[in-house]
Amino acid sequence: MKLRDMLNEGIERLEAAGVENAAFDARQLLMRSYGKTSAELLMELDRPLCPGATGGREPAEITECPGDCGGRITFDSLIARRAKREPLQHILGSAWFMGMEFRVGPKVLIPRQDTEVLVETVLEREKDKDISVLDMCTGSGCIAAALKKLGGYSEVCASDIDEDALSIARDNAAENGVKISFILSDIFEGAGSLKFDVIVSNPPYIRSDVIATLEPEVREHDPKKALDGGPDGLKFYREIIENAGAHLKEGGRVYFEIGFDQAEAVSALLLDNGFTGIEVIKDLAGLDRVVLGRRRLCAELTK
Ligand code: GLN
Repeated sequence: MKLRDMLNEGIERLEAAGVENAAFDARQLLMRSYGKTSAELLMELDRPLCPGATGGREPAEITECPGDCGGRITFDSLIARRAKREPLQHILGSAWFMGMEFRVGPKVLIPRQDTEVLVETVLEREKDKDISVLDMCTGSGCIAAALKKLGGYSEVCASDIDEDALSIARDNAAENGVKISFILSDIFEGAGSLKFDVIVSNPPYIRSDVIATLEPEVREHDPKKALDGGPDGLKFYREIIENAGAHLKEGGRVYFEIGFDQAEAVSALLLDNGFTGIEVIKDLAGLDRVVLGRRRLCAELTK
C-alpha cells in the first residue's frame, strides 16, 4: 500500500459523504497528517508504506516506522471529521484569503473567496492611502487585515458585536503583521463620534428561513449570528445605511458584499438615504456581489 492508495480511499469516503471538493480536501488532510507540503507529498505518493499503516501489524508493534502509522491514524480521524461535514478550514485551523492566512473556528465566518471581490473593489477604487477605513462586522478580521496590508491605508478600524470574534481578529492582524484598531460595537453603537472616509462590510445577509437549506458546513459550523440577516436578509444593510451618514465624512464611500439577489434592494436603500454614484459589481461567477455608493458632498445637497 502507498500513500496514493490512502489518498484514494480518503477521496472515496468524502465523496460518499457528499463533500464537494473531495479530492482537494483529502489531499490537504493527507498533507496535514504527514506534515508534508504539496510538493513533498507528490514525491512520496508512490513510496511503499510501513506495513502497520496498511493494517499489516498493530502500530504498537512497529519500532521502525518512519511515521507512516501515526500519519495513517491521524488521516483516518481527519477524514472522519470531514466526512461528518466539519469544514476543512476548521479541521486545518485556518483559511487563506487574499494570499494571507487567517485563523478560523466556530466563532467566526470562514473567509469566502467571493469576498475577495469586495476587497479588490476597494483596492481598485481607493488609491489614496491617506484615508480611514472601517470594516464593520469584521469576524475573522480578514477584510480589514487584507485592506491594511495590500492597500496600505493609514487608518484601518474593525468592529464586531462579538468579543470572541474580535479576539480572533486581533490575533489574525498580529499574525499578519498589520496594525488595526478594534472596536466592540453593535453596528455604530460603539463608534462614538468617529467618522471614516470609507466603510466596508460583509454583514450577515442570509434570509433567516434560508439558513436551514444551506450546506451542513455552513448551517452547522459557521456562527449563525454571522449569517442571519433577518426575515428579508437586509436587516444589517438597513441599520448600517440608515446610520452611516453620521460616521462617514462628506463624500465618504460605502462598499458592501451582498447576496446574488440583493443588488436592487441594497441600491434602493442607498438611494433613499442620500447616497449617489451607486454601482453593482459582479463576482467571477457573474453574480452581483458588491454594491458601492458615495455620501453626497455638501455642495451637491445645496445646489
Ligand atoms: N456568503 C456567505 C455564504 O454563502 C454568507 C456571508 C454573509 O452572510 N455575510 O454563506
